Amino acid sequence: LIIPSWGEFCLKIRDIFEECRGINGGTVATYIPQLARCDPNLWGVSICTIDGQRVSFGDSKVNFCIQSVSKAFNYAIVASDLGAEKVHSYVGHEPSGRLFNEICLDPNGKPHNPMINAGAIIVTSLIKNGLTMADRFDFVLKEYRKLSGGEFVGFNNSVFLSERDTADRNYALSYYMKENKCFPDGIRSLREELDLYFQLCSIEASCETLAVMAATLANGGVCPLTEERCISPQPCRDVLSLMYSCGMYDLSGKFAFQVGLPAKSGVSGVLIVVVPNLMGIALYSPPLDKMGNSMRGVEFCKKLIESFNFHNYDSL
Ligand code: GLU
Repeated sequence: LIIPSWGEFCLKIRDIFEECRGINGGTVATYIPQLARCDPNLWGVSICTIDGQRVSFGDSKVNFCIQSVSKAFNYAIVASDLGAEKVHSYVGHEPSGRLFNEICLDPNGKPHNPMINAGAIIVTSLIKNGLTMADRFDFVLKEYRKLSGGEFVGFNNSVFLSERDTADRNYALSYYMKENKCFPDGIRSLREELDLYFQLCSIEASCETLAVMAATLANGGVCPLTEERCISPQPCRDVLSLMYSCGMYDLSGKFAFQVGLPAKSGVSGVLIVVVPNLMGIALYSPPLDKMGNSMRGVEFCKKLIESFNFHNYDSL
């Protein structure tokens, strides 16, 4: 067993989880109307190890839209499909130092990285871009189901509609990128490409699902529940590098410093954390801090690192 004293480990996780329940700051995202209606009290955690041991506390079965967490998996899926070199001919590797939805490109005229909106919209446009929109969506959904070992993965249509209705910024960003020739040849209309981007943000899952998906990344791209290879080894390593440097909005540098683990958060209040060669962790609590990360989620990670030597450089 990869975690020998499993019972003891779970008790400590439960303590940390309960301590974080006491945190009451932060605000639920309101710029997507449907997100503003989420219950701020929801709080869940789920863990899945690379050998398939699982534990969950709180609202771990509640489904929510995964928002920007999709950016990590979409990148890994596309890079597995097309190769990292091809993907990075359209998008860079650097933290942007700017807001996640900022209208800006790097000095090469590309989006800074695949974890912010600009880069994620381009990555989405690379997904099976010769197929119909229906087949492209089905392709991603099938890959997500593989990554989660058959756990529930759904779609929240009202979030999709609500996000699309209020997406002026993402439209502006996409027209700016179109003007700068950032998109691959042969894409459909911007409207359709953005629809797919919003749809993937509106994919629904629970902490239990996302913990398995994160554990697949921790396990080098092989799902611990099914032993199926979902992501090729290099794209798996690559996505973890990008999550480490760019996954937590404008907290990414400090999070890498304090917690030292690859992670990705989304505005719905979700946070996935990968402990390479050990486990995937999924956290959900809608109230966000000023940077846009789940308050309880970030606090949980800090406490986790105080209790266990999971920080990347703890091994020194
Ligand atoms: N769908 C959101 C947007 O494009 C993603 C935001 C996020 O979770 O960072 O604004």
